[in-house]
Order: sequence, then C-alpha cells, then structure tokens
Amino acid sequence: MSKQQLAVERARKAFRTGRSKPLEYRIMQLKNLARLFEERKKDIAEALKKDLKKSEHGIPLYETLGLEGEINLAVKKLKEWAAPRPVNKNLLTISDEVYIHPEPLGVVLIIGAWNYPWAVTIQPLIGAIAAGNAAVIKPSEVSAHTAKLMEDLLPVYIDKELYPVVTGGVPETQELLKQRFDHVFYTGNCAVGKIVMEAASKHLTPVTLELGGKSPCYIDKNCDLTIACRRIAWGKYTNCGQTCIAPDYVLCDPSIQDKVIEEIKKSVKEFYTENPKTCPDYGRIINQRHFKRVLAMTEDSTVALGGDNDESECYIAPTVLKDVKPESKVMQEEIFGPLLPILTVGSVDEAIDFINDREKPLALYVFTQDKKLIKRMVDETSSGGFLANDCLVHFSVNDLPFGGVGNSGIGAYHGKHSFDQLSHLRGCLIKQLKMEGMNNMRYPPHTEDKLGWARFFILRHEAVVKTFKFAALAVLVVVAAFVIQRFLD
Ligand code: NAD
Repeated sequence: MSKQQLAVERARKAFRTGRSKPLEYRIMQLKNLARLFEERKKDIAEALKKDLKKSEHGIPLYETLGLEGEINLAVKKLKEWAAPRPVNKNLLTISDEVYIHPEPLGVVLIIGAWNYPWAVTIQPLIGAIAAGNAAVIKPSEVSAHTAKLMEDLLPVYIDKELYPVVTGGVPETQELLKQRFDHVFYTGNCAVGKIVMEAASKHLTPVTLELGGKSPCYIDKNCDLTIACRRIAWGKYTNCGQTCIAPDYVLCDPSIQDKVIEEIKKSVKEFYTENPKTCPDYGRIINQRHFKRVLAMTEDSTVALGGDNDESECYIAPTVLKDVKPESKVMQEEIFGPLLPILTVGSVDEAIDFINDREKPLALYVFTQDKKLIKRMVDETSSGGFLANDCLVHFSVNDLPFGGVGNSGIGAYHGKHSFDQLSHLRGCLIKQLKMEGMNNMRYPPHTEDKLGWARFFILRHEAVVKTFKFAALAVLVVVAAFVIQRFLD
C-alpha cells in the first residue's frame, strides 16, 4: 500500500468512528488550529521568507489573519450553520417535519497552491473541519519550506488521523488522485484543474476548483487616477504579482495611459522605495522556472516602468508595459508576476466586448465614479467576483462566496459558503403514520376526481396558505381587540 493510500485509508477509518461529527470536537480542532497560528508565528514567517521572501508584517496581513478570522467565525456560528434548516412546506406536507440537514461528506482531499500556501490550503481545511469531514491535506511542493512545516506542525495541533498531511510532488498528487474521496478541493492553475476533475470523475467525486486566469481592470477616464492607481499598484505588486485575483491587465482610454503610468510609478516608489530590490516588503518570484516564464512575456511589449531583474534572486521589478496589443505574449496567459500591461480601448463598449471575448475571469475590477457604469459592468459581464474602485479586498469578506465561474473555477467558499460547499445538504421529510386519507389522491385507481384534488393541493398551495395566514391574522386581531376591551373596562 502506498503512503498516500495509507493516509486516505486511515482518514476514512477515523471518519467512520464518527469522532469528527460532534460539534464540540469540530470546535476543539478549530481552536487547536488557531493556537498553531498564535504559537508558531516565527516558524511560519521563516518558512515563508525562504519560499517567497515574504515580509514579517506582510505575513499576518496576507496569510494568517484571514485564517484566524475564518476560525473565529466558524467557532461562533457552527451551531447555527449545522442546525437543521426548516423549509417552506406544501399542503401535502403541512403537518410534517420538513428540513435540510447539513451532513459531512466524508473524506475531503485538499490540494493547495504555493502563492499563499497557508491561506489557500488551510482555509478549505477550516471548512472541512467545521462541516465534520476528515481531510487529507496536500500542500504545494513548490513552496517547499512551508510544505515541510505543515507536515511537521499540523499533526501536533490537530487530529493526525482525521487530517493527515501528505507531502510530495506531481507523482504523489497523482497517486492521491487515484484514491476515492468524497470531495476534492483543488487550488491551482486551470491545466491541472482539468487533470483533477478527470481523476475525480472516475469515482463521480464532486470537485471545487479554485483556479486563476486573467482578471481585467477597467479604468474610467473620469475617476480619481491617483487613488485608483495606488490601489491597482497594491493589488498588482503584492506578493510580486503572484496573487490569483491580482489585476492582470488594465484597459483604459488612450488619453489617460501616460497619467496611469505616472501614478503607478509614484505608488511603486511610495510602497517599495526607489529600489524595490532592497525593500523588505517586495517579494520574489517563486522559482527560476516561473522567473523565466514571466520575463519572456515582456519580450514583444514596450516597458514603460521597471523591467529590471536578477535571475540569481528571482527578482523582477514592478513593471508596467504600455500600448500592449491583444496578440502580445503577455496577453496569452495569466501573468502571475509583477507585470502590468496597459491596453487602450476607445469606449466602454469596446472594453466590455474585450472582456466578454475572453474566458470568464476570477475577478473583474472597475474604477469609476459613475454608478451607471458600475451597474453596466455588473450586468453585461461575468466573473467569479466583482469589485469597483479597489482590488483584492472582496477576498476578505467572509459572507461573499469566493470562487470562479467558467474557466476560473467551480464552486465557492469562505465563511458559511465553505461549510455548505463541504457539506451534503440532505433534504429530510419526517411524516407520521397517520392521516392516510390525505394520500388517497395518489394511490391507484387514478381518477379525474383524485387528479382534481392533487391539482388543488399542489398548485393552489400559495393561495391556500395566504388565506390561512389571513384568517389566522383576523382571529388574532379579534382576540387582541377583545382583550384590550376587557382591559379598558
Ligand atoms: P502548484 O504548482 O503548486 O500546483 C498546485 C497543486 O497541484 C500542487 O499541490 C501540485 O502538487 C499539484 N499538481 C501540479 N501539477 C500536477 C499534475 N500534473 N497532476 C496532479 N497534480 C499536480 O500551483 P500553481 O498551479 O502554479 O498555482 C498557481 C495558479 O493557482 C494560478 O493560476 C493562480 O491563479 C491559481 N490560484 C488560484 C487561487 C484561487 O483561490 N482561485 C488561489 C491561489 C492560486
């Protein structure tokens, strides 16, 4: 039996004991996970510095604070999320119990990516634990120091049989994917997303695919360009552009292109100094393969800002490319690096067509003061998430479902959405062995009369309920009037 197979077997066996189900156990595991982030800050920071040169104060901001927030929310709300959810009844079930019962799916496989290795691996785990599942955790081998740390630390804090960590590269992930799971939650690129989905289909296992793509950013010429570009520069160059929802490219009117470049330049200087290479808050490309991939994208475009680089350090400066053409290399795939191409468009219609001619993105950004334009963009385009006048921050709202659409992903999570995504919402109807007369209309022999009754009970439901409510209200008013009258007497 392979290591991967063994981990899955053990997790399933542990799940079958039923210990992941009691809410107290789930809460205890979540609190233990929170303790890991409190007690191991230093280890987490050291590993992330080695992997991506992340800065000391940037780590909590972009990696762990959000996780701690998600854990607090789940601990606070779990009882409410896991409770039976009553639903509207029809006339045929008026005296029955009808509700949704959220139940765990079983064993979930979580495959993480490297760019925010804690955030994207542990956030689904929080949902999996909250929903009462077991979970096999596969951190990305690309952020190797963090993967090793997760392998060492998670078993110290949470149930190591229910939530085992399996490390390794592509062969190990593929071996895991051969196993039977009850859900696969994958974060990473679209090409591997297809491999994951194909493997899952062999067992008819449902998937959540948190993918990427090219997220457009439209800047209206009538907006505050200083503020807009400051927010765009932050969204683009954080983590050296290696953010799934980073604005991938800018669309704007030709008349504001130079001003946009000027403002981005000012913000880069403000955030990362004259020399970003020596600035602790400016990261590095994850490895040389990605360094070469990103740099090659600049080849057929004009560099308007930045462009300098150092292969030995995987450093690429915050870069802006101007007058970029749709057929340029940088527009052929998700950049996932610190390059910001600017493409000029003659009108909003042209921008909307440009966006709609391409795969549905993970995020769409619009900068404008014009509310009508915002509404148009929402109505006439599609994307995983939509954000007007800022970048990235929709990720931090627990109540917003975070996920893609079309090519940018399947399914969504965060907050209660994670809980629902990793639960089976089981429809339950509890009847009594009484009132058999009500059922006559469905039993053979079928007649016109019985059909008439069925039609009444099924189709006239709303009207009957309304009449019933109205009658109940009328009775209440009469009783209240009677009581008040007696009181006044
Ligand atoms: P990666 O290379 O770390 O791959 C992710 C996981 O897939 C790893 O655990 C790896 O072992 C596995 N894997 C890689 N190749 C495989 C194969 N051939 N067969 C089976 N498994 C394989 O990460 P990546 O894909 O480079 O991550 C970057 C991408 O992830 C970007 O496209 C980014 O937009 C996207 N992303 C999306 C989100 C989101 O929330 N939607 C978050 C982060 C990253």
